[in-house]
Amino acid sequence: MSDLLTREEYDAIAKEISCPSNSWINGKYTGARSGKTYENFNPATGEKLCDIAACETEDVDYAVKKSRQAFASGSWSRRHPSERKEVMIKWVKLLKRNRYELAVLESLDSGKPVCDCASIDLEETMHCLAWYAEAADKIYDKIAPTQDDAMGLIVREPVGVAACVLPWNFPMLMLAWKAGPALAAGNSVIVKPAGQTSMTALRLAELAIEAGIPAGVFHVITGGGAVVGKALGEHPDIDTLSFTGSTEVGRLFLKYSADSNLKKVTLELGGKNPAVVLSDAEHLDAVAEHVVNACFWNMGQNCTSNSRLIVHKDVKDELLEKVLIKVREWRTGDPLEPSNRLGSMVSKAHFDMVMGYIKKGKAEGATLVHGGEALNVGSGCFIPPTIFDNVTREMTIAVDEIFGPVLAVMTAGSNEEALQLANETCYGLQASIFSSNVRNALRGAKELQAGTVTVNCYGEGDISTPFGGMKHSGFGGRDNGLEAFDQYLETKTIWVDLSEYEVDAELG
Ligand code: NAP
Ligand code: MG
Repeated sequence: MSDLLTREEYDAIAKEISCPSNSWINGKYTGARSGKTYENFNPATGEKLCDIAACETEDVDYAVKKSRQAFASGSWSRRHPSERKEVMIKWVKLLKRNRYELAVLESLDSGKPVCDCASIDLEETMHCLAWYAEAADKIYDKIAPTQDDAMGLIVREPVGVAACVLPWNFPMLMLAWKAGPALAAGNSVIVKPAGQTSMTALRLAELAIEAGIPAGVFHVITGGGAVVGKALGEHPDIDTLSFTGSTEVGRLFLKYSADSNLKKVTLELGGKNPAVVLSDAEHLDAVAEHVVNACFWNMGQNCTSNSRLIVHKDVKDELLEKVLIKVREWRTGDPLEPSNRLGSMVSKAHFDMVMGYIKKGKAEGATLVHGGEALNVGSGCFIPPTIFDNVTREMTIAVDEIFGPVLAVMTAGSNEEALQLANETCYGLQASIFSSNVRNALRGAKELQAGTVTVNCYGEGDISTPFGGMKHSGFGGRDNGLEAFDQYLETKTIWVDLSEYEVDAELG
């Protein structure tokens, strides 16, 4: 965990901070060619932070051209992997040196609690980049099992130009998840951050140059998704595109690819993730702690948020009581106040959407047992942890991904019913299962339709384990782990006919 600062220290940094606002293209800050900008706000206060470059197709074309040239030059792509490693490690050191500024920038831009930005987002970002840097020179290719008269080399090469389109909920970390393996593998990389949260991506790009990643290899291009995201998706000279965001937009990237150059597409999408508590779950205090963290961390704006608590009737009352006690420790308010666990929702529009779901929960007959009213602080985009009991399978709050601090508690008559309810969703990203019987826990883990299942805890594994979704939660590959390299490497077979050489030798 990083050393945290006091409220006064964070305020002082926020007062002095400079907000990057231009895109980072070909090694320098660059405005949109059209000169257009859009306004960027601090969602916690409603104050304007800066005007960000609203790039368009011609800016994307230029970034892609520079990326391709850099790739062809070999300045990064053909550098010894151990040298790429050294440069990326230097990049991580620069992040560490600038960690307080980056944490505050992330908090101002997104409304996230600054302590989370410092101790979780930034720490994991650095760990992720360092992990892929270290992996760069430890990846081996393969030789196929052939007879002596041939040799089949199975080699993997960087694809060329990779695009990464990011969501707003973990701006720095999602950049690291994608640009980390893409750069370590030797590609040129273009990142399009989410419109609301572009500032830390820009600072990271600036630090990348300082670390020694050549100009032309790493770009951050800002602007609207429907313009810049689409232009990247449709670009004929981008080889792979990795997207994290909503299922709805994810589908578009498959179309963009089909209609352009059949670039590889990897999608990390939404979830309606269950925390399943079986009848034999013990240590309910610990379970309650996981349940609260799993649903409310990052204001529930988390693709793996456990927004459904599906609990066996035998342990339901006791668990809910403990959840209601634990949740009181999660104070909501000013993101720069270190004691607050929940900050602001990312925008007024998103706040309105989440409040709409809370209204629906009440109207459809669920029982509100905690929260439910917006807090009248700052910009007013603050929603405290909200818990509904007696939620049934057809209610909107049991079905839709809310992406806010709203927990739907559903009671199951048996363990089988609990697992069945858990799988009754179009999503399949993450699930948590709680049981003190290892056989039941593992049986349940196998039955749950999710890319990651955690047993007696909540989480996503760590950087060493692949992450992605089944069903409508993902497509095409995985982030994290060595598996992430698959997105950014192309497999090539080199078949060598050794018998030719034998004949030649005899002739000679
Ligand atoms: P989003 O609206 O899908 O946006 C994601 C990215 O796509 C943004 O950079 C956005 O740009 C861009 N975009 C928007 N419309 C586009 C279009 N027509 N063509 C091309 N690009 C476009 O999602 P979000 O609101 O940022 O994030 C919330 C969603 O992400 C949730 O559903 C959540 O579950 C999911 N998520 C999934 C994971 C995972 O790993 N599976 C992780 C985090 C979040 P603008 O911002 O400029 O509009
Ligand atoms: Mg912002």
